[in-house]
Amino acid sequence: MPLRNLTIYSSETLNDSNHIHNFNAGPSILPESVLREAAASVMNLNQSGLSILEIGHRTPTFTSIMEEAQQLVRDLMQLSTDHEVLFLHGGASTQFMQVPMNLLDAKETAAYADTGVWSSKAIHEAKAFGKVDVVCSSKEQQYTCIPDDFAVPHDAKYFHITTNNTIYGTQWHKIPHTSNVMVADMSSDIFSRKLRFSDFGLIYAGAQKNIGPAGTTLVVVRKDLLGKVKRHIPTILDYRMHIAEKSMLNTPPVFAIYVCMLTLRWIKKSGGLDVMEKQNKIKADLLYAEIDRNELFIPRVLPKDRSLMNVCFQAIDESVESRFLTYVKEQGIVGIKGHRLAGAFRASLYNALPLESVHYLTEVMKTFTQKQG
Ligand SMILES: *Cc1c(COP(=O)(O)O)cnc(C)c1O
Repeated sequence: MPLRNLTIYSSETLNDSNHIHNFNAGPSILPESVLREAAASVMNLNQSGLSILEIGHRTPTFTSIMEEAQQLVRDLMQLSTDHEVLFLHGGASTQFMQVPMNLLDAKETAAYADTGVWSSKAIHEAKAFGKVDVVCSSKEQQYTCIPDDFAVPHDAKYFHITTNNTIYGTQWHKIPHTSNVMVADMSSDIFSRKLRFSDFGLIYAGAQKNIGPAGTTLVVVRKDLLGKVKRHIPTILDYRMHIAEKSMLNTPPVFAIYVCMLTLRWIKKSGGLDVMEKQNKIKADLLYAEIDRNELFIPRVLPKDRSLMNVCFQAIDESVESRFLTYVKEQGIVGIKGHRLAGAFRASLYNALPLESVHYLTEVMKTFTQKQG
């Protein structure tokens, strides 16, 4: 059988991403080299003559992709064998209920920090499984900050935080390590910085912000926390079953996991989380400095809690806001319209976004301001 011809997927025919600056919040920008390799593998995976889309998940080819993806997560997070790494279906939103279903008995209490839309949804789902103690909230401040004065009861089964608030542009820069088991939704800042990942009991993240395409969710869980609740857990929602089957309890999202593996390889090859963190700080500092300096724009969040991933800001009035949106569109900038709940602007600066794109955005902001005369 002749191998499929790859030449039609040469660099010239793939999207030239230099022409578009992609600030999308999620699904969002991926490294160009990852996109090229993924595109080639859709036609012909590792010169096998088969597409990544048409191989069985229990083949040695895919098994080794899954194992490499899990190992890369272990390496980047510096995990010991106490933790298991899973790639599941259902998005981070499924974890809002799967976490309490697996960890919280009906009579027990879990502590949650309410720092935005995603935390509120996690809180809402947890209430169906046990008691929920919302130990802090920045709702009254319109979620413009991270709460800093609160206590978590010692007997809370776990303490759940959303490390980065994608919609409101705030981020926990100092993780509140309490005596409780820590559970974190890291969907929008996973692998963007160094953290003591092994201190967490459970970490989850939808892939589509910083790891890969939509369709899979990374779950890292400490094994000894499982098997303690009394309720019946449906097989497909039981972490222990997924662990026993090495994330292949049923057909996993093969392509999504493959692209995650390529992105994880790219992170490691680029220097790991040290380098990601450094670059992300440089990018965010550059953009916040322009927002602070430019008289037409107002930052949404106080400096201490500003997200390095999702930069939220406003214009001084609505007419400037709509003119700026039109202007950036003409300049090849996409994805900076804010979430419908927060409004105004949000520029997402995920790992794969090059520094040049942030430079470009700040230049466009300057030129726009000069044009307003
Ligand atoms: C995007 C996002 C979610 C929702 O993810 P889905 O995969 O769409 O369910 C949850 N939490 C945070 C922090 C997010 O950014």
